[in-house]
Amino acid sequence: MSLKNKKRDTKVTHAGHVKDPFGSVSPPIYQTSTFAFESADQGDARFSGKEDGYIYTRIGNPTTDALQNAVASLEGGIGALATASGMAASSTLFMALLGSGKQIIGTDAMYGPTRGVVENEFSRFGVKYDFVDSTDIENIRKAIRPETGLIFIETPANPTINITDIQACADLAHEHNIPLAVDNTFMSPMLQNPLALGADIVMHSMTKFINGHTDVVGGILVFKESALLQKTKKVLLSMGGTMDPHQAWLVLRGLRTISLRVEKAQQNAVKISEYLENHQKIEWVRYPGLTSHPQHNLAKQQMSGSGSMMSFEVKGGLGAGKKLMDNVTVATLAVSLGGYETLIQHPASMTHAGMSQDARLDSGITNGLVRLSVGCEDVEDLIDDLENALKSV
Ligand SMILES: *Cc1c(COP(=O)(O)O)cnc(C)c1O
Repeated sequence: MSLKNKKRDTKVTHAGHVKDPFGSVSPPIYQTSTFAFESADQGDARFSGKEDGYIYTRIGNPTTDALQNAVASLEGGIGALATASGMAASSTLFMALLGSGKQIIGTDAMYGPTRGVVENEFSRFGVKYDFVDSTDIENIRKAIRPETGLIFIETPANPTINITDIQACADLAHEHNIPLAVDNTFMSPMLQNPLALGADIVMHSMTKFINGHTDVVGGILVFKESALLQKTKKVLLSMGGTMDPHQAWLVLRGLRTISLRVEKAQQNAVKISEYLENHQKIEWVRYPGLTSHPQHNLAKQQMSGSGSMMSFEVKGGLGAGKKLMDNVTVATLAVSLGGYETLIQHPASMTHAGMSQDARLDSGITNGLVRLSVGCEDVEDLIDDLENALKSV
């Protein structure tokens, strides 16, 4: 079956199918590190690229290819590279597109370690960086220099839920011949497709919504055109951050239910955001689906839903936030997000503790900010849980 003209949920169900001699409906796990050649000539042909086929699992594996094809299909890309983690995806991309003297422009309030790997590791090799409030495109324009090698935005950003205009960023980047990459982890391929809005590369931590079961770490880069894919692939294969076939199989299994999970979690999140916004102990709620979100209209334009990630400020700051987290029983106090279960965490003391306090506050990550990844539980139980926990605040 060709999926070319099929709708999204049909792609979710069938993309990345592997044809095998036994008619296996579930893709086989090719749990092998290497592939035998029938002759020395065949080995020669595989290595020289004259013949398609597998050589060695770091270089390629049918199970990993199945996952890459599935996610590329959902994001509307020409191909994808699966990686050992989300961080392996972003750092491989940085390695491919940056170098000594080159500069990267990024969203200031992005996933902490993505910013950290640039500031602490790539800087040691002469890479320059500017992290700016990308909700205002003028901040990106001002940061562009002849040495800019990549614009990397995260939208909605973690954990402020700030939204950046993908299309405007793509237009600006292309005026200057700079590739635009978008970390689409928070929306998943179900609710936002940056390539269709002009981006060149989409990155996901598949640890989150794509796998969705809180049991695998993985990442992926999806490309709009072949030259950037090939350039990045060369770096990935030699740096070695590729994904293992068993890991790929698990992620592909998780992916098959993404539509149902994202839909249910989003329905819950809409109700919870309204509940929290009307709660007297809550200062503010940041959720793209609320009209109070400063970029609610942009969210409606570039996203096909509001997702299930939100942040909110409990009145009373740090102490109050911690109290809330210590008293929930249905929600689990843990970092990570996008799984079937509700997770709650406190960025200032957890995920973003590595940032300096000034940079953190500058990026809108206040001391009392709580991040909630809403899961697929019954929403009444989730609201009761928050109600009880807020009584202790
Ligand atoms: C988790 C996450 C990452 C990093 O992915 P890992 O799989 O943990 O390496 C990057 N960006 C965002 C937005 C994330 O949530």
